[in-house]
Amino acid sequence: MWSLCAICAQAQPPPKNGGGPGGGDTGGDTGSPGGSTSCTSIPCAAALLNDVGTTTASGTDARSSKTFAVGENIYGPFEAGFGASQDFILEGLGCSNPSLGYVAGGIDTHTAEQMVAQACSITLPRVENDEYISLIDECGGHTSEYHFHERLSCLYEESGGHSTQVGEGLDGQYIYGKWEDYSATELPKLDACGGHFGVTPDSAGVRTYHYHVQESAPFTIGCFGPSTDGSGGFKLVTVAECRSLYDECGNGDTITVNLPTGSVQYDPWCPCYDATGSSIGTEEHAVFASSETTCSDATCTTSTGSTGDAPNDSTTDTPDDSTTDTPDDSTTGTGDSTSAATSTGIVHGFSMAAIATSLAYAMAPPLL
Ligand SMILES: [Zn+2]
Ligand SMILES: [Zn+2]
Repeated sequence: MWSLCAICAQAQPPPKNGGGPGGGDTGGDTGSPGGSTSCTSIPCAAALLNDVGTTTASGTDARSSKTFAVGENIYGPFEAGFGASQDFILEGLGCSNPSLGYVAGGIDTHTAEQMVAQACSITLPRVENDEYISLIDECGGHTSEYHFHERLSCLYEESGGHSTQVGEGLDGQYIYGKWEDYSATELPKLDACGGHFGVTPDSAGVRTYHYHVQESAPFTIGCFGPSTDGSGGFKLVTVAECRSLYDECGNGDTITVNLPTGSVQYDPWCPCYDATGSSIGTEEHAVFASSETTCSDATCTTSTGSTGDAPNDSTTDTPDDSTTDTPDDSTTGTGDSTSAATSTGIVHGFSMAAIATSLAYAMAPPLL
């Protein structure tokens, strides 16, 4: 008899997640520890480099006509830093002496860009000959191995009430555009993870924890919330609670960064920002002055659609980032079932095993 198993074992390609020795963590990002590699109870740390989620909406950059398919990578706020290997990028931004624009790792992309602008005496972003010149493009992402950090503004319309869904976190919870109510010019009041409780366009009228894109860091997800109240309900995540998830927060390596608006203190690799946008300050977010900080009724604790969520996020997306230089197209194809499969979710189950698995792969340095 044929031994099918033996044949199969030899014929199978190596597992994707094990196949990236060349693309793994190079060690160049010393001091860039990664997010939690295991997470058993929320709230949880997110990866400090690489994916915190993937997109669930498509879109087009109106100026460049670049298109985005569903399944693009969404990274957290940080870059691994800019050094000599980014000289051509810095020169492209107009920094005639690129060495002036070198920035350490663990700085959010908006702050890093303004550091470059200040150091190189240039304005960023700016438009020249209808070209948008910036570290991050107008839609909020960059590089040939494209990933979003900010805005995701090309993936939803500026219209209506609550912004539509643009992505899904690795925890299976959704990310929406920046508006809580566009028609009322109302921005959401978010916790330190970047989420809040409320009704979304696809939550069937039920209050659910969800993330929003925001102008300042962490831009999407600073951690995976919410927190629990100890009696079966959920509550929002405070600045202190977020920082407690990361060894890199408050570990004494604060630096001074020089921006066009002045100098500020900055705690690298700490993705937990206070109400003033500071990774040092301790001013609690405005939402904690409201009554919207808990979600403990029956509808909020209902978990539907959770079983279908996590596998989409975790295993298919990240290996693309770390192992190859493949164009965007190959990346986007892998996440295509995400949004359709999970559209009925209310408060999703938290598949932390899947998150842990995913984060363990995800440490390739996303240089510019
Ligand atoms: Zn990046
Ligand atoms: Zn909302």
